Amino acid sequence: MEEDDPFGLDDEIVLLSFKCKDCGKRDEVPEYVVGDFSVDLNNDEEVEVECPFCGGTMLRARNVPSE
Ligand SMILES: [Zn+2]
Repeated sequence: MEEDDPFGLDDEIVLLSFKCKDCGKRDEVPEYVVGDFSVDLNNDEEVEVECPFCGGTMLRARNVPSE
């Protein structure tokens, strides 16, 4: 029995890193939320989420070139 589960969740939540194009801050978004955003996209389109810090556009961090 695994008791080391501080959140009391059975399912492991995968967090994906996003980086804001506008303010450069990073945020982590649960994969299932990103999946919801992906539904209407074509395969070659990036998932974009709204930045909680500035209201700008966040993209998957791996797709944002590091400076
Ligand atoms: Zn931002």
